[in-house]
Amino acid sequence: MDYIARVISGVEQKCATEPEFLQACKEVLETLHPAIDANPKYEKNCILERIVEPERLVRFRVTWTTDEGEIKVNTGYRIQFNSALGPYKGGLRFHPSVNLSILKFLGFEQIFKNALSGLSIGGAKGGSDFDPKGRSDAEIMRFCQAFMTNLVPFIGPRVDVPAGDIGVGGREIGYLFGAYKHLTRHYEGVLTGKNLLFGGSLARTEATGYGCVYFAESMLASRGEDFKGKVCAVSGSGNVAIYCCEKLHQLGAKPVTVSDSTGMIYDPEGIDVAVLRQVKEVEYARLTRYAELRPSAQYTPASDYAPGRHKVWDTPCYAAFPCATQNEVNGADAQALLANGCQCVCEGANMPSDMDAIKAYLDAGIMYGPAKAANAGGVSVSQLEMAQNANMVHWTFEDVDSKLKDIMRNIYQRSATTAAKYGQPNNLLMGANISGFCEVADAMIAQGQY
Ligand code: NDP
Repeated sequence: MDYIARVISGVEQKCATEPEFLQACKEVLETLHPAIDANPKYEKNCILERIVEPERLVRFRVTWTTDEGEIKVNTGYRIQFNSALGPYKGGLRFHPSVNLSILKFLGFEQIFKNALSGLSIGGAKGGSDFDPKGRSDAEIMRFCQAFMTNLVPFIGPRVDVPAGDIGVGGREIGYLFGAYKHLTRHYEGVLTGKNLLFGGSLARTEATGYGCVYFAESMLASRGEDFKGKVCAVSGSGNVAIYCCEKLHQLGAKPVTVSDSTGMIYDPEGIDVAVLRQVKEVEYARLTRYAELRPSAQYTPASDYAPGRHKVWDTPCYAAFPCATQNEVNGADAQALLANGCQCVCEGANMPSDMDAIKAYLDAGIMYGPAKAANAGGVSVSQLEMAQNANMVHWTFEDVDSKLKDIMRNIYQRSATTAAKYGQPNNLLMGANISGFCEVADAMIAQGQY
């Protein structure tokens, strides 16, 4: 058995109850053969065995009180996966599905994503199985305060700087920041995605969605194409999906779908981003509300989808942007996209395509922008927020957006150049994985055995 197979088999035995983490390990490790074969130092230094093991894993109880006075208990986590390249950095997710497996997969992916950004940040992830849906503002605040009370000993501007993710947006970051300040008496850049009033960066809200479209733009340019007049399918309707739709409109494309966990919108006239923002960012409502406000929209509840299918991917489109959650595109979904002429899949969400779907894209030779490269815009602008906080300066929207564009182009170039170097120029997944991995692995070796 070769080195990579041995390490995967070790993870299979040790983490048998962590399917998402195992999937992410396989997705990364199985693409690393050329780099591992060319560099015996990685095996000699046990880099793979070390990189699949988090440096530190914190798990804590979060006790909070509902508006009715009922006491609730949730589990909180912070997984500090790898600090070879800089302080830990990665989002917090509040969603009932959160467990160790999901956060380990997200933290593991974050290591390579952050390396690709070229911005000196390590990889981490955290969150809780708390469900914010239907909770009042006051309940969200009390939960965030209780969560931060437990997290505070483990984070700091030079130690670990969390950000948002599913269920954690500007409101939650504000409450978390307030609690940190109250507990430590330090007013400092310990979280990113903050409100502009207390150290946030312009363009952070837009960064992941915009960045994903910039990445796709680079892929299209490599084939002499652009977005003008192209119909696109987008899933999700949260932070990433909204700003993905906005940038697509700005580049002349027409996004025609969005979704949430209970249904999808097909809007043949193009998703109206102002209406979507009103529904999701102001009213915190469901997509049925979008359908009420927008006469051209057609709403399909998830209960009407074919079993095991995500109906968004039946939409004929030139490019698809999965921006909701992990494993939302399976092999059958990918085949439906290909049969309808889809030429490009660019991932805003983390690990949205399962292994069968990825194989289908690569076999068909379409443009495929893997998550850790295509959605790195969010963490990159988070790092720009850290830089502004550390220097007590504020950059303009245009400054940050232009830096974001450069970063996304660089990530594309790095991934494409590495893929070409190892003989598979169309395989940006391999290019991104090897490029990110080698940087982290070389730093780990140089820093000795920890
Ligand atoms: P939000 O919480 O803002 O939005 C998530 C969206 O996805 C919601 O519309 C949610 O619907 C939908 N969704 C969740 N689960 C499902 C499901 N099973 N089927 C269909 N829709 C679903 O999160 P973000 O937009 O921030 O994050 C989306 C993805 O992007 C995640 O994978 C995240 O890890 C990734 N990401 C986010 C970054 C960021 O900067 N925010 C950075 C990099 C990656 P519902 O309301 O019904 O739950």
